[in-house]
Formats: sequence, structure tokens, C-alpha cells
Amino acid sequence: MEMEKLVSLCRRRGFLFQSSEIYGGLNGFWDYGPLGVELKRNLKDAWWRDMVAAHDDLTTHAGAPGAYEMTGLDCTIIMHPQVWKVSGHYDLFADVLVECKESKKRYRYDQVRCRWIDGTGMHLPGSDQQYATEQVKYLIATVAENEAEDLEKRAMKLLKVRSKDKDSLKWIDGVTTLDQIDTQDFDKVFAPEATKLGTFGEPRDFNLMFESHAGALQSEDNKVFLRPETAQGIFVNFKNVTDSSRVKVPFGIAQVGKSFRNEITPRNFTFRSREFEQMEIEFFCHPSQSQDWYKYWRDRRMAWWQSLGLSGKNLILRDHHPDELSHYSTGTADIEYAFPFLPEGEYGELEGIAHRGDFDLRSHMEGKLDPNSCPLTVQLGEDGKPVHRGSGRDLTYRDDITNERFTPHVIEPSAGADRGALALLCEAYHEDTAPDDKGQDQTRVVMRFHPRIAPVKAAVFPLVKKDGMPEIAQDLYRALKKKFPAFYDEKGAVGRRYRRQDEAGTPYCLTVDGQSVQDQTVTLRDRDTLEQVRMKLDDVVEEIERRVTG
Ligand code: ATP
Repeated sequence: MEMEKLVSLCRRRGFLFQSSEIYGGLNGFWDYGPLGVELKRNLKDAWWRDMVAAHDDLTTHAGAPGAYEMTGLDCTIIMHPQVWKVSGHYDLFADVLVECKESKKRYRYDQVRCRWIDGTGMHLPGSDQQYATEQVKYLIATVAENEAEDLEKRAMKLLKVRSKDKDSLKWIDGVTTLDQIDTQDFDKVFAPEATKLGTFGEPRDFNLMFESHAGALQSEDNKVFLRPETAQGIFVNFKNVTDSSRVKVPFGIAQVGKSFRNEITPRNFTFRSREFEQMEIEFFCHPSQSQDWYKYWRDRRMAWWQSLGLSGKNLILRDHHPDELSHYSTGTADIEYAFPFLPEGEYGELEGIAHRGDFDLRSHMEGKLDPNSCPLTVQLGEDGKPVHRGSGRDLTYRDDITNERFTPHVIEPSAGADRGALALLCEAYHEDTAPDDKGQDQTRVVMRFHPRIAPVKAAVFPLVKKDGMPEIAQDLYRALKKKFPAFYDEKGAVGRRYRRQDEAGTPYCLTVDGQSVQDQTVTLRDRDTLEQVRMKLDDVVEEIERRVTG
């Protein structure tokens, strides 16, 4: 499917609009239109229902090490600035930005996760030599800019990234394996290149957090940040939740909400936006069981996306290579989707599931202490203690039964609602043929959403605007509307009305015709099979409800 077709359908039918479009739009910001808002809400509702509201605390679910509880939170977007200092975002959520003067391409180094990414955030592609070349050029440019830099450290960083992609080493003369590049080679291979390639602008630090001020005066003292993730609100409320409810480890806290990142290069429709929504769970468990819980969540989350229709080869679960892991993580997997704007064989992240150890709770207690963490993480004050101290509060947990006190380990499934909605849109888009009013086959665009997430569940049409048909159809429409979004349409040829609903992804169309007036039956048309069955008017609401929930 060509992405342009989907983008144009989204605008034409009211799934997505560019924010502030009448003023020329604002890069990286998107509005959901009448159909889009229902789609995204259905996605978030399905997540909340399946992960939290309908979760059965008493049963051990398949693949889980035991039963567990789930609860929710809704935290503020603006939090105490110290939260971001301790979480590392204040110091580390800065991208090193460099722009190639020729291509104007921008590159950034994600210091929180210690990895190189381009503007799209895609993983280093398997065989894209050009990309690998650009990565190296970027590194060289950075080194060339600052000769005082520790070359060896930089070379190691490079090798770390490139070890994911041994094939791409081939572009360097004669070098085909990682072993052939050691730190001495770095000078030999890269330094001459560095002189040749003076085409990059100066690397600059660029923090991704949006800033504002709380209060009338704008000073350093009242500077605040829009949250770049929802997770921290959960960590800082860990004690509040355990003290105020009866939850016991293992348990999870879920939150859905807006996050903001001043992305250097927003692009690919809503995939990389500056304002987006996340659906995050922080799952707290005993350290000895954490690996089992990690595996459980990884598989559970993959199965959940599949249950919404992202099945098949477009969706993959990718375990991170040990080199790719954040310093605190012993396991991370991404659920990735083959978005159509990516080259063949490449996937973009929809959700990350990370084993975060006790890193977050410990940081909020003690501040940043881990000397082996990412470069720049630890800032020591004159007293030799970390500058970014934690809250000093006790965020450990005592097991009532064993009396053991420990800092829980955390498994974090972190999904994007916008990337999720985009994947569902991409997956749904189909072109096929269907007969028109004269029985001639015509090309149709049909959005094959899973009924559970389809924006409108059913549309009701009177065949003609007379003979009592509109009255019956309107009553049916009102009855459906009490349960879920439904649509009434009496204008134009019925084939055209079907076609409009196909584009909106409405799974069922109900038509009231002459026979309906006689025997109180209607036809139910299935969007995908085009099959039409006649059913009793009285059974319609219950039948549609059964089909669209669950
Ligand atoms: P990327 O590597 O693509 O920048 P990330 O690894 O930084 O993503 P996380 O911090 O793990 O992303 O955030 C969790 C989820 O939030 C992602 O899987 C994604 O679905 C969503 N997300 C993150 N950044 C954006 C963004 N700029 N626009 C839309 N969704 C985003």
C-alpha cells in the first residue's frame, strides 16, 4: 500500500488532520478528526479494559508465574523538575544533533538508550550501506569537531552500534568483520576520512523536553517541563498506591496520557510526533521472579496487538541485542510493525517492553548512583555525592507474609497510542472490487478494522425516503446509538452509501427496505465478505453488540 493513499484517505474521511492547518500547520502535531477520535479512543479503551478494568486478579493467566493485580493512575503532565533530574531526562534526554550541510539530514544520538538513530528513529537497517556510511560520517564529524575527545571511547561507541549490523562494515575498505576494527584502526580508518568529510555542521546538544514556567515570573527557579513519558508519574506515586490501596507485589500500575518530545525531525505522518499519547504499565515484582514476569509481559503484549488485527508478518517481536540494551536493563523487546513508509524488511517500534530492574525506584530514593551507566549520567558534587539527589523517601516494599523488605523490580510495557492507531490504519487499508448499484464490479477502498476498534460499528439506511422506511430505520438507529457509535444515512444510491461506510471501516450496514415494512426484518451487510443476511429487527442490536465487543 502506498502511504500517500492512506494519508489522503485520512484527511478526506476525517481520521487525521494536520494541527492548525488553516495557518499552514505545525510540524509534528496532529489532530484526530471525527472518525480518528473514535478509532484512537477504541484503542485506548481496549487497552485499559484488557490490561486493567477487566483483569482478573484471582486467576493465574497462561504464561504468568502467578496471579497479579492491576490498578490505574492519572498523573499530571507537569511534575516537580527534580523528577526529571533524577530520571535522567534533564541531563540525558538531550540529543546530540548534527546536520549534514549537503543533504540537510539530521542525526541524533539517543543518550538515554545509548544508540544512534536518524530522524525516523529506525533501527540501523540490515544492509543499508548508505545509512551506515552516514552514521560513521556523523561520528567522524563529531570527532573532527573536538580533537580533545577521547577517540577510543568514541570508537567503542561506534563499534557498539555497528556490531548490530556486521554487513554494513563492508563499505569500509577491506573490513568485513568486527574483529578487524580495533581502536588503533580507528585512527587509521577514520581520521583521514574525517579531514575529507568536512560537511557536517557543529554538533549541538538538544534537550527533547519542552519547557515552560509555573507561575507569573519566568525564571530558572520556576522552570518546568512537559513530561516526555508517563512512566515517572507512576514511579513517584508507588508509595501512595501501596499505602492507599491493598495491592500487593506483584502488581501493575497503568496510565494513559499525553507525552511531549521536541523531536528534532518529526516525520512519517503521526509515527514521530512532538505531542503523542502513551499507554504505559509499570509492573512491580520480586527480583527473583522478574525474568519470568518479563517474558510473560513480552508475550502477552504481542498477543494483545495481534488480537486487534495486527496479525501476520507485518508484526514482529524483536528482542534487543545485549549491545542495544540500556545500562539498567537485563532484557528489552520491541513490538514492531512494518509501516508502509519504511523500506521493505524494516519495522518501526510500536511498543517497548523493558526489564528495568530496580533502577527507577532506587533512583527516586537515592539519586543517580550507577557509575557504569551511560556517559554523562553521574554528576558528582564537591562532597563526592551525586548532584541529582533522590527524594530520600523509602520506596522499598515489605512482604507481609515473609517479612522480607526489598526494592521491587520493574517490567515496563510502554506503547504508543498514536503509533498503534497508525498501524491499525495501515493494516486496515485495502482495495478490492465490489458490485455497484447496477451489479458492475468497481474498485472500492475498504478499511478492514477489527470490529472492536472500528470508529462506527453500524450504519442504518432506509432503501428509499418513503413508505415508512425512514421511520423504521431511525428507530433502529436510535436503539443502536444507545450502545455504540452508529450512523444514519438516507441520501443517494444505496451502493454509494455502502461505499462511504467501507471507507470509514464500518463493519455492518443495515438496510430497511419494502419487506422490512411488511415483516419487521432488515438486511445486514458484512463489510468484508459483502454477504447480506436478513434478520429480525428485534434481534439487531443484540447481534451487533455481540459482534463488536470482545
Ligand atoms: P523511538 O526510538 O522511536 O524514538 P523510543 O524508544 O524513544 O521511540 P519509548 O521512549 O520507549 O520510545 O516510548 C514508548 C512508546 O511511545 C514508543 O514505542 C512509541 O510507540 C511511543 N513514542 C515514543 N516517541 C514517540 C513520538 N515521537 N511520536 C509518537 N509516538 C512515540
